[in-house]
Amino acid sequence: MRDADGRTYLDMTSGQGVALLGHSHPRIVEAIQRQAERLITCPEIFYNDQRARLLERLAEHTPEGLTRYFLCNSGAEAVEGAMKLARMVTGRKQILAAQRGFHGRTLGALSATWNPRFRDPFLPLLPGVMHISYEDIGAAERAISASTAAVILEVIQGEGGVHPASLEFLTAVRDLCSKRGALLILDEVQTGLGRTGAWFACDAMGIQPDVLCLGKGIAGGLPMGVVCWSESLGRMKEGSHGSTLGGNPLACAAALATLDVLEEEDLPNRSHALGERLLKEFGGANHPLVREIRGRGLMIGIDLRQRVTPALKGLMTRGVLALPAGPTVLRLLPPLIVQQSELDHVRQAIFEVLEEINDGRDVD
Ligand SMILES: *Cc1c(COP(=O)(O)O)cnc(C)c1O
Repeated sequence: MRDADGRTYLDMTSGQGVALLGHSHPRIVEAIQRQAERLITCPEIFYNDQRARLLERLAEHTPEGLTRYFLCNSGAEAVEGAMKLARMVTGRKQILAAQRGFHGRTLGALSATWNPRFRDPFLPLLPGVMHISYEDIGAAERAISASTAAVILEVIQGEGGVHPASLEFLTAVRDLCSKRGALLILDEVQTGLGRTGAWFACDAMGIQPDVLCLGKGIAGGLPMGVVCWSESLGRMKEGSHGSTLGGNPLACAAALATLDVLEEEDLPNRSHALGERLLKEFGGANHPLVREIRGRGLMIGIDLRQRVTPALKGLMTRGVLALPAGPTVLRLLPPLIVQQSELDHVRQAIFEVLEEINDGRDVD
């Protein structure tokens, strides 16, 4: 990536987790060009070959049994669809979400998002949405009841600071949902499609959701969200939900090309291998400014003992773009096609910047 002054950068943000294959990957560009000449828009009431092919291909990868899909245009929209589906299927109103969770900024999704900074200007939000402490099995046990329509969780909280859920917590929530008739919605908008070293983070943990939300990189940078749900929940009633642009052939063609490259280059496994190595190298370093390093695959959070902004600025002057995740966490979401040598360079740059901060030198 190049800025207006011609300086080059390594983008360890993937444009907020979207550019799984980097920017303007030739296969995505070609798919968009080809499809743009054939058909750009097609309302969902009509058949569209690109959408039909995409649904078949998604079914090859999404967790077993999740064979129903709704295509929309963003992660927040996928969460909206999942919340409506849960209310409709269960006839219940209550949705449980987690503290520190992030699910998007439309009013329904924002109701499930926790951070008061995003919520407070828009109160009151949807009634019946409550937040329990992430990782607190006792709280889940007390909160999930016969009034609960769904529990919505990220498998690894992204915006909230790169916090992976433990297998114990997810297993307990899965069991409680099954016992009490609530749906488990997993929001894999950020963790999905190879990001965490598996096609989906829930697969790697063996947790089966009833509903799965996807978004961010699924269409190679074009807007797309997907709600996937279990066959046994049935269809949404005719006319109860819809999207004019959802599943348009252009976005579907880009998504098909994205899936092709993820498969052909075995990027989920590659993400696993690169991430393991990076975590090991970081972990061995034991820097005084680093409180903890968390993550899986190519979703990594470096929790600092101070605010993260100076480190992000220092990295930028060294040509590395990284993200914050909360006030103290430096988040890396590199494209899954990143080279080992580039990750070595980034690791080096991070340690140089931390050294400068530690020495009290000005990093700006
Ligand atoms: C980014 C994100 C969303 C929202 O996606 P948008 O496309 O910005 O609406 C929802 N959930 C999670 C976990 C995300 O990371």
